[in-house]
Amino acid sequence: MLVGGCFPPLKMKTEFSPRSARPPNGALAEALFALSEQEEPGDRRLALLKAGYAVFDATGDGRRAALAKAPDWLRPLIDQLASCPGEDALSAAVQRLATGARPRRRTTREHYLCRAEMAATLAAGESELHPDRMRGAAHWHNTDSDGKTALESMARACQRRGYAWSMVTDHSRGLEVASGLDAVGLRLQRKRIDRWNLSAGDDHRLFQGLEVEVLEDGTLDVPRGERLDLECIVAAIHRLFDPDRDQTERLLRAISTPGVHVLAHPRARHFHYRPGLRARWEVVFGACAERGVAVEINGFPRRQDLDWELTRLASDAGCEFLLASDAHAPGHLEFDAYASAIAMKAGVPREQVLNVMHADEFEVWLAER
Ligand SMILES: [Zn+2]
Ligand SMILES: [Zn+2]
Repeated sequence: MLVGGCFPPLKMKTEFSPRSARPPNGALAEALFALSEQEEPGDRRLALLKAGYAVFDATGDGRRAALAKAPDWLRPLIDQLASCPGEDALSAAVQRLATGARPRRRTTREHYLCRAEMAATLAAGESELHPDRMRGAAHWHNTDSDGKTALESMARACQRRGYAWSMVTDHSRGLEVASGLDAVGLRLQRKRIDRWNLSAGDDHRLFQGLEVEVLEDGTLDVPRGERLDLECIVAAIHRLFDPDRDQTERLLRAISTPGVHVLAHPRARHFHYRPGLRARWEVVFGACAERGVAVEINGFPRRQDLDWELTRLASDAGCEFLLASDAHAPGHLEFDAYASAIAMKAGVPREQVLNVMHADEFEVWLAER
């Protein structure tokens, strides 16, 4: 429990602080997350956590976002925190309000961009990597696996966003994933994609990818009887994260499987909950570059995988990148903006990004692998 049930006023010179000195959304969100961890599991903890997420995802004023659904008891605290004149004062305030051990940022929240930071990065970054300059929308799901919207509606949403091409990558149903596509489902989906491409012509080209599970030993969980001759195979880990195990060999085996085009969300991390895989990343990225396997920058806000530091490492290794939204509904397609922001922050050159390709160029890139 935080100090007292109500919050003692903090000694801060708030009246004369310029608005620009208020803590940025990322810092305010982190303060709320840190304070939530001071609480026992229950309503208070949950309310602080929700307020933290509201700020983290806010497009504008963090204070207003945090207050929007906050219970009455939490409002004075939010006002106090949001009025701190800058990040140092905010940290001091969190320290004063905490009772037990010094509140620390969990490693599971490090190297993520909150929405406001993402927007600021885009505004300040290389315009060549801006989402508006991308031609292709990659890695999205539809009702054929765990998406919420039908294939054609997702493709239309990509088209409406101005993309010249897009690529569906539903989950496969091999040995492990129950909600994915089996060999029959894949062939039915292929027919729908062919129909779409016939009617859309050059307006919007649709590619068929498949998100295939990397099993514990690095082999791939492909549908029984299916060879890896789909247009694009995206290999990814969604389970068996074992934090004590170095996963380099598992990833290397997946990368070196003939027919694999992309290594998706390589760390398999999840904001606030899962730190992500351990691996010798310079070795993994070196193998990707050597084999021509692209590395994904997954922009789903709770993934942001790779982060900008590992993206820089992969870029220096000579990897190519696929920027991805991992959308499960049309509203998620905008998440590729996070991927663009991460690429900008890492200084990735435009020529290393596959999404800038014309559809014909991307088709050739896929066929060469
Ligand atoms: Zn995935
Ligand atoms: Zn996915």
